[in-house]
Order: sequence, then structure tokens, then C-alpha cells
Amino acid sequence: MHDEDALRTEARAWYEANWDPDLSVGAWFHRMMVDRWAYPTWPQRWWGRDLPTGLARVVREERRRVGALGPPSGIGPSLLAPMLIAHGTDEQCKRYLWGMATQNWTACQMLSEPDAGSDLASARCAAVRDGDEWVVTGTKVWTSNADIVDIGMLLARTDPTVRAHGGLTFLLLWRDQPGVDVRPLRQMTGDATFNEVVIDGARVAARDVLGDLGGGWAVTRTFLAHERNSFNPASHEGGPFGKVPLDAPAGVIAERLRTPRGAAIAGRGIAQVLDGLVRDGGSVTDPIVRQRFVALQTRRRLMTYTNQRTRSPGEAAPRAGAVGPISKITVSDLGRGQRDLGLAVQGPHGMLVGDDAPSSEFQHYALSTPALSIAGGTDEIQRNALGERVLGLPGEPKPDTTSR
Ligand SMILES: Cc1cc2nc3c(=O)[nH]c(=O)nc-3n(C[C@H](O)[C@H](O)[C@H](O)COP(=O)(O)OP(=O)(O)OC[C@H]3O[C@@H](n4cnc5c(N)ncnc54)[C@H](O)[C@@H]3O)c2cc1C
Repeated sequence: MHDEDALRTEARAWYEANWDPDLSVGAWFHRMMVDRWAYPTWPQRWWGRDLPTGLARVVREERRRVGALGPPSGIGPSLLAPMLIAHGTDEQCKRYLWGMATQNWTACQMLSEPDAGSDLASARCAAVRDGDEWVVTGTKVWTSNADIVDIGMLLARTDPTVRAHGGLTFLLLWRDQPGVDVRPLRQMTGDATFNEVVIDGARVAARDVLGDLGGGWAVTRTFLAHERNSFNPASHEGGPFGKVPLDAPAGVIAERLRTPRGAAIAGRGIAQVLDGLVRDGGSVTDPIVRQRFVALQTRRRLMTYTNQRTRSPGEAAPRAGAVGPISKITVSDLGRGQRDLGLAVQGPHGMLVGDDAPSSEFQHYALSTPALSIAGGTDEIQRNALGERVLGLPGEPKPDTTSR
């Protein structure tokens, strides 16, 4: 049992005594980790405190109160970490959890392929054993941030004689090596945040197989459950989402992440930008706009309550398997609603981009919203999961994977 007040007192005392903006980022990450305040939901044996996710909020609040830099956020801590904890060996946990938290090792997901997106079990990227290593050959696509990260979480076929879900294995591939060619794909936002990754003879050490050989599908399911759950707190720790210089002063990086641009990049703040557009554009008196605005506010509030329910024990908690799909569908619905209202109140100015736009952050967000209903599994796939696994409805017809 954890006592919230006692935890708050302890966290407050620690952050007040230890936060030092002149410390280097690396030294600050190290200090948070060894004293178990970086990721308090992680197990005690891996530098955590076994805190339930609801209470981790208390630690985040105390960290923000003193203006301290958060630990690294994003894919590594939010996805690779729970997979390591669930499926990794002790040696893997020790090495990778420590590396992510103190050395800012970053990760990306190498699952989708040109012919395997919703149907990941059709993955063809092959890994063949060669002594103490696996040799990987194949193509991955839509790989977000593959050009800037350290580690690829890669789903590969290690046994071509077993079809569909069998014969797949999860590997941790170090990206910066011969045989990994990352080719950026440009989006309509103008950014190129995802990539095609052509892998030709790249190597993965045998000790970097995550989970059982041929057990890649079980690991993938853990992965997808975490990915679809945008209530996952580790993705919003408030620290850097990508690489930051470890020798920079921690206070400088903390300040950079607090700017509106930094907040928008971290995925926060769009609701506030939308509020500003509605008020500044004078649309706040328009009854239709008011109605849509309040509907969005209501939706956001409901999302907060659902978020709280996911942390509740017992009957209030959503049924198993429901949280990820509900969270994912809610985020994409909310995204579309925010986009449509924001563009509507801007009228013709909504067509402008860059410096000409009333809010370049909002225009960028508007252009990126279609991705919300595709990335991490499409809305249709989430609805299938809800229907079949939670509501017990008859299954959708499956693609024929035996004819290849
Ligand atoms: C912004 C963004 C970032 C991404 N980042 C990554 C990443 O980092 N790593 C990675 O591996 N992948 C990434 N993806 C890929 C993403 O996971 C896939 O695009 C997604 O799973 C859909 O696969 P697909 O594009 O192959 O579409 P398809 O699977 O070909 O689907 C096409 C259409 O058919 C529908 N459909 C397919 N099967 C069914 C079904 N059984 N029932 C009903 N409808 C169905 C889909 O909903 C969709 O509308 C990213 C995608 C986006 C948009």
C-alpha cells in the first residue's frame, strides 16, 4: 500500500534537495535513476518503486513544481521498457532500462512492412541465425524516427516454414550499422518523421532476442496493448522525446521543453491553441461554434474520467482489452473534432500555412490529424478488437494467409 501524502512529502523533499539546473542533463538523469524517482512505476529491482500509475502522477507533479527536467519520454520508456519488464531477461533489463534512462538511448518500432500493416502476422522481414548473431534482411515502412534513434524494435520471421503468427521473433536491432538504410518519407505537413528502412544483412546479437524464439507474436501483443493506450503515463513524463545533449545544463533543456513550441512538439497544448483561435477570432458568441466547442470540452473531460477509471481497481476499471482501443479511438475522434472546429473558425485563413497562418502550430496539427486514425493500428482495427475481444461479437473474416 502506498500513502499518497507520504509519497508527496518524500518526492517533494527529494526534488527540492536534488534539482540543480546547472547539473548536466546526463548527471541529472543519473541522479533521478539511482534514487528511483525517474520511473517510479518500474519494479524496485529495476530502479523503480512499483508505484501504481495513478500515484506516479504525484511524483510528476512534484517534479514540475520545482521546474525540474523530466526523465527521457517517448517510445523507449513507454513501449520498450514495459516489453523488457514483461518479456526481457535480467541482462536485457539491466542494460537497456539503464541505457534508456541515463544515456538517453532512443527506440523506434520496426513492425509494419509494405505488405504487412494491419495484418502484422504477414511480416516477411527475415532473420537467419549465424553463430552468435541473427542476420536480418527485409523492408520495414512507416518507421517513425528511424533516422534519429538508437534501437529498432523489430519483428522478424525466424522460421519461414511456420506461417502467420508462428515463426515470428522480436529482435532489438542497433540502427547505426552497415546494412540498415533509412530513407525518409515526406508527409503533407512538410516533415519527414517516418521512413522506409531497407535492411540488408544487418546483425542482431543472439542476446538481443526479446522473448522466446518464435514467440514474437506474444511480444507484439504486449507491444500493441501499450502502444494503443495513450493513457500510458510513461509517454508523457515531461522529459525529452528524442536525443538531447547529455552535457548541456539540465535547466536549459527543461526551459526549452516549457516553451509553447516545445509543448506542442511534445503533443500538449493544442487544446489551448484551439481555445485561443476561437476566442481571438471572435467566434465565441456564435451558437454553433459554442455548441461544437462545448462538445469537444465534454469529450476531453470524458477522456480524463476514462483515464482515471483505468487506474481504479475493481468494478470501476474498464474491461480487459478495452482501454487501448477506446483510448486510441477517442484520441483520433478528438483530433478530428479539434481540427475541424479550428479550421472552421479561421474561415479562409484556415487554408494558409507557415508564417501566413493564424497559428502555424495549429495548421501543422490539422495536417497531421489523419495520421491519428492510422498510426498504431487503424480505427477500424480498434473497433474490430473492441467488438471481438471485449463485446464477444462474431469475428471479421480473416485474410487468407495460407495461399502465399
Ligand atoms: C503517423 C504514422 C506513424 C507510424 N509509425 C509507425 C512506426 O513507427 N512503426 C511501424 O511499424 N508502423 C508505423 N506506422 C504504420 C501503421 O501502424 C500502419 O499504417 C497501420 O497499422 C495500417 O497498416 P497499413 O498502412 O498497411 O494499412 P492496411 O493494413 O493495408 O489497411 C488499409 C485499410 O484497410 C482497413 N483494414 C485492414 N484490415 C482490416 C480489417 N481486418 N477490418 C477492417 N478494416 C481493415 C484499414 O483500417 C485501412 O483503412 C505508422 C503509421 C502512421 C500513419
